[in-house]
Amino acid sequence: MGETSEALFLTSGYCYDDAATVAARFAGEQDGMTYSRLQNPTVAMLEERIALLEGADDCRVQASGMAAMTAALLCQLSAGDHMVSARAAFGSCRWLGDSLLPRFGVDVTVVDARDTAAWEAAIRPNTKVFFFETPANPTMDVADLEAIANIAKAHGITTVVDNAFCSPVLQRPMEFGIDVVAYSATKLMDGQGRVLAGAVCGSEEFINEKLLPFQRNTGPNLSPFNAWVVLKGLETLDLRAKQQSENALKVGQFLEGRVPVILHPWLDSHPQQALAKKQMDACGPIFSFVLDGGRAQAHALLDALELIDISNNIGDSRSLMCHPASSTHHNMGPEGREAMGISEGMLRINVGLEDADDLIEDLDQALSKAGL
Ligand SMILES: *Cc1c(COP(=O)(O)O)cnc(C)c1O
Repeated sequence: MGETSEALFLTSGYCYDDAATVAARFAGEQDGMTYSRLQNPTVAMLEERIALLEGADDCRVQASGMAAMTAALLCQLSAGDHMVSARAAFGSCRWLGDSLLPRFGVDVTVVDARDTAAWEAAIRPNTKVFFFETPANPTMDVADLEAIANIAKAHGITTVVDNAFCSPVLQRPMEFGIDVVAYSATKLMDGQGRVLAGAVCGSEEFINEKLLPFQRNTGPNLSPFNAWVVLKGLETLDLRAKQQSENALKVGQFLEGRVPVILHPWLDSHPQQALAKKQMDACGPIFSFVLDGGRAQAHALLDALELIDISNNIGDSRSLMCHPASSTHHNMGPEGREAMGISEGMLRINVGLEDADDLIEDLDQALSKAGL
């Protein structure tokens, strides 16, 4: 047919030429699709491409980033197991460890992901999984992928890294020895704020023996339509991730002279700049900064923005800004936020593809209106 765009198979089921074919497919003796909770050609195209980008044996996609994280953890943890996870993390990722897993008899210890020795010290005989993201949302803590992977390997522990902030264009955790890489494909992979999607990459053994039995029977599947949208997003992922990083560096350099604290992995003021540069190919579109005037000043800055939108999404090709304490990390409560290093004056920005000078102009006028 020669279509330029990938074929979109909006189908839940498949028909067969004869009954013997059905039997052969269900017996695994013949290749072919049987039901879209198990296989779909559009979804399979996306899985193949994400695996190639990641340099992973295999990949399976899910309906959202949180479906991916939940599947990556629940498929391998059982009652009596122990997980060590990072303190600074996406709010719902923390909820999995704080609230969901303990209900099913999985103990969870939370550590400062920047402190490599803390991972080792938290290990128990029943520790099965290390789970973290780097850079972390929204504090931009950087965790040492290679050092943490080495500790895990020495103890037979599986490492699961949430790589949503970077995408495989900017950081490939498996190159540092990480076992499983999970994504919110809603973020940089779609990159244009259209669909929710998630992905889990791992070895053939992990995907076939752990993830697939869980995913095929619980059904957190991505719809073929959303898979098609993410396929279109992947075509420009490399260009977007690199250009947005370049813009984020320019905007960060401007803000460094204007705000009291900036948390940006490519700037000299970031305590883990060298580690970030070792692991990441560019700084990524997202960083945070802190104002002295607390929530009132942070909200005043958001309200004064003209070009940059107020939104809690990230990875989008548009510039978006949010106040984590009153949005993404609201549910953690004041004590939880303080432990994670999220102050009332903190703002997080996702720098998009607009002209960097226009973004700087917008921030300049908004900072003046907010009294800076
Ligand atoms: C957005 C995000 C998620 C959740 O992804 P959804 O697609 O919104 O379900 C998980 N981890 C990180 C780091 C994220 O930024």
